[in-house]
Amino acid sequence: MYHLPVLKNRRTLLERAEKFISDIYFTDCNLRGRLYGDSCPLESLACFLTPKRITFAEASKQIFDPCKVGDTFGPTWWTCWFKVTLKIPESWRGKEVHLLWESDGEAMVWRDEQPVQGLTKEGEKTSYILSECLQDEEPHSLTLYVEMACNGLFGAGQGSQIAAPDPNRKFSVQRAELVVFNRDVRELLTDFEMLVDIVKELGEEEQRGYQALFTVNEMVNLCDPSDPSSFAKVHSLAGTFFNQRNGESQHTVHAMGHCHIDSAWLWPYEETIRKCGRSWVTVIRLMEKNPEFVFTCSQAQQFQWVKSWYPGLFSSIQHYVKKGQFIPVGGTWVEMDGNLPSGESMVRQFLEGQRFFNKEFGRYCKEFWLPDTFGYSAQLPQIMQGCGISNFLTQKLSWNLINTFPHNTFFWEGLDGSTVLTHFPPGNSYEMKGKVEDLVKTLKNNKDKGRANHSAALFGFGDGGGGPTQLMLDRLRLVQDTNGLPKVQMSTPDELFTRLQADSALLCTWAGELFLELHNGTYTTQAQIKRGNRQCETLLHDIEIASSLALYRNNTFPYPAEKLQELWRLLLLNQFHDVIPGSCIEMVVEDALKYYEDIRSGGAALLRDACEALVAKGSSVGVFNSLPWERLEVVQIQEGAEKSGLALVRASSIGVSPVKDTPPVTPVSVTVQADGTVVMENGLLKTAINRDGTLASLYLISGNRESISDGCLGNQFVMFDDVPLYWDAWDVMDYHLQTRKPVAEVVQPVHVVSSGGLRGSVSFTLRISDKSTITQEIIMDAMCPYIKFSTEVQWAESHKFLKVEFPVRVRSPNATYEIQFGHLQRPTHRNTSWDWARFEVWGHKWADLSEHNFGVSLLNDCKYGYSVHKNTMTLSLLRAPKAPDATADMGIHHFTYAIMPHTRSFQEASVIQCAYNLNFPLRLIQCSPDTMPWSAFSVTSQAVVLETIKQAEDRGGVLVVRLYESHGSSVTATLRTTLPVREAWVCDLLEKQDPNRLVQVTSEGITLDFKPFQIVSLLLIM
Ligand SMILES: [Zn+2]
Repeated sequence: MYHLPVLKNRRTLLERAEKFISDIYFTDCNLRGRLYGDSCPLESLACFLTPKRITFAEASKQIFDPCKVGDTFGPTWWTCWFKVTLKIPESWRGKEVHLLWESDGEAMVWRDEQPVQGLTKEGEKTSYILSECLQDEEPHSLTLYVEMACNGLFGAGQGSQIAAPDPNRKFSVQRAELVVFNRDVRELLTDFEMLVDIVKELGEEEQRGYQALFTVNEMVNLCDPSDPSSFAKVHSLAGTFFNQRNGESQHTVHAMGHCHIDSAWLWPYEETIRKCGRSWVTVIRLMEKNPEFVFTCSQAQQFQWVKSWYPGLFSSIQHYVKKGQFIPVGGTWVEMDGNLPSGESMVRQFLEGQRFFNKEFGRYCKEFWLPDTFGYSAQLPQIMQGCGISNFLTQKLSWNLINTFPHNTFFWEGLDGSTVLTHFPPGNSYEMKGKVEDLVKTLKNNKDKGRANHSAALFGFGDGGGGPTQLMLDRLRLVQDTNGLPKVQMSTPDELFTRLQADSALLCTWAGELFLELHNGTYTTQAQIKRGNRQCETLLHDIEIASSLALYRNNTFPYPAEKLQELWRLLLLNQFHDVIPGSCIEMVVEDALKYYEDIRSGGAALLRDACEALVAKGSSVGVFNSLPWERLEVVQIQEGAEKSGLALVRASSIGVSPVKDTPPVTPVSVTVQADGTVVMENGLLKTAINRDGTLASLYLISGNRESISDGCLGNQFVMFDDVPLYWDAWDVMDYHLQTRKPVAEVVQPVHVVSSGGLRGSVSFTLRISDKSTITQEIIMDAMCPYIKFSTEVQWAESHKFLKVEFPVRVRSPNATYEIQFGHLQRPTHRNTSWDWARFEVWGHKWADLSEHNFGVSLLNDCKYGYSVHKNTMTLSLLRAPKAPDATADMGIHHFTYAIMPHTRSFQEASVIQCAYNLNFPLRLIQCSPDTMPWSAFSVTSQAVVLETIKQAEDRGGVLVVRLYESHGSSVTATLRTTLPVREAWVCDLLEKQDPNRLVQVTSEGITLDFKPFQIVSLLLIM
């Protein structure tokens, strides 16, 4: 059968085969040139342009004007609807007929008022199949609509992908015609392409590569592109190669279709809805033809969008979910950022997501799915396990700039010891194309060879949507079991993890956070989004507690469950992994800030209603404390007023208290020295403030200790040049540290604002540059163990990074940072590359640097970026990247941080409580003059934080309370309540009652045992 032996020249044979399928060279005589047969123009093409994203019903009623191929449409973000009339020639009987559509705007074909096919040139989808084999009785004349968005798969950035969108871009239709599609040529091309790729990927080391080379060369010999009757022989020759099987021990690749759709990124939320529609309707078309095709799909929010915008498509999805082909995965509302959302937010991501999946599809997800997020909190394993999830898939740590993560399949152990089976697809991608290269990479990169013999390969265009294509499916089908390549099976996450779990004896364990050594600027970029997130998390926390209490103070109070769900979903949406990190375009920032406004205004009304139900109305002032400990704090009870507007309030834990006459305390003294510096003292702390606002001294009176390092200054603002290598909004690079410059120019020196008593404060203004200034009020309150820095920055910089430093008199190899429901330590030295890679880290409300019996904590009310190197504690304040949002962070910013020296450990010094106090201000309420202090809940152990109180989902008369151990200790604590609790049950984070764990309710309360950082949720039945 074979022709004469060829010379030993691998290169000529390989290039010969490549040219035979080239779409550039020799298309007049090669196989590629035969892919399409006859073509025929459309009968007519007409269009209608609109700035809005409208429904089909609305669009089809408009007046369409004639247009032609080659015309341009715009501007960016508009939509062009096309009316396409076509007539298929009679002579094409028996042929496969496509509408070929190439436009640089993403498009959707509508037929009979339904979306039927997405068309995205960048996603290799340019044809809509009109007939697979044209019959006489089929309609030959048709009218279709094509909805073309004036944006591409990656929005409309100019030049670089992440450049800010060009608002005036024009989009064109380059091709729109009917063509005969030669399916047999396509199949043969796939044979050729796969063989050529095998030759290239296996290289000169593998004999199997040479077998592929000689096979493909013989196929060229036998194939006459102009004579389709020669194709069968050629195809069968390829089949002989592909059907040579592997041995039993070969690695198995679990191929899963996927389509990563960023819920907003280089395009706004609204466009994402259409991206989902375009991508998923195409998936359904593929499922109709490929019954083995499995597609994994995350983010309940996107399903919710499709349900309301494309109800017909949603029904089809439900059908294929039932068939086990369309697999909802992840269990969360969106694929959220893995660092910044609070613990409760993360729980709600799963609560909203899992409940949605269960309601719409009758199933909970068993795996957490977060392929594209910038790091993963050490508390996630416990949260996953609490939400019915024991498997986790991501791949993002393959982006580490410095260290290579050592595992692909391993057990990930969280802060409390919970473990989840974790898999990083070794191909390091969530958007493979089913090519030989993907399979070989998966096999070669696997860092658990001999331990894990199964891997995932996620295929389909992603980020901007797109998803799998028929070609990808055909490729994978060809090499299901081909000697030399891993075995390939279409699979589900469940099948993969079941196989991995069954054979997990040799797997390693990674304990603690999965820190991404890249994108560390995302803890700081878009400060208004960070602030919106923190403030709205706080607000929703308070509303839920006030509303839960109100149910038992006023039996007509309706718990606003629906409205709260609506606000929570907005907050959760903004936690998407390109929104809260600040890596999105300006339009998305505008939407996100609007959602925070919606939460603030809707939330303010809910909080007011709930607080009004807590107490009898009257002319006196009281406070609502949402935190589970008693507080003694200075509050401003009259807006605008200075001294007279302040009061020192004793507030009951989780309850209401009247504002009474100030009890006697050590007053704050403020003394201006001859040299213009100011000394403030409140009996706990004494500080000396320089004319430029820096702290010359911060003295802890009880400990007899100076906090500021010898010869150094606290509250030192510093600026850095901040020019990353590419990912502007995302990355701050190590070398920025070499560009440190103190902010030194004083515009207005320190002067006294509040002269003492309940509050002492000074204010000053510094110039950062001719465009930017800092104005700060340094506040010392009576009885308060920390000093607050209430800061306003006018910010108009370009590629600069503003931070504030506190060099402290503490020596410790580790600093501690608050994370979700706990804290963890990171080194303050740079011994190894793993330590050094963490030059910029994230934390939540506080960070602490302690040696035995003394330490300093840095608290904040809306920041997330920190670094502690040696003895300098630094809080990251503002960045100024220019892509993808050219206006990122420009404008006025407000934020507060605080410094708190302490004796003993930070746990014993109540640093955790102080950071909560800073973030959850006492809320003023109007009450009658005879209001008595009332507390609904308290906890006997300071180690245990009662974080959440809410009405149980779908269960009136039942409250959920969530507590966690915050010190990292094993403790027994009693939850005391004045509410009429009849029964208490332990439940999981999805609020599922554990039938074996009834908890005793005694007159003392509910006594519980906690392990370090354990989260415990209870159902309280009233
Ligand atoms: Zn993404």
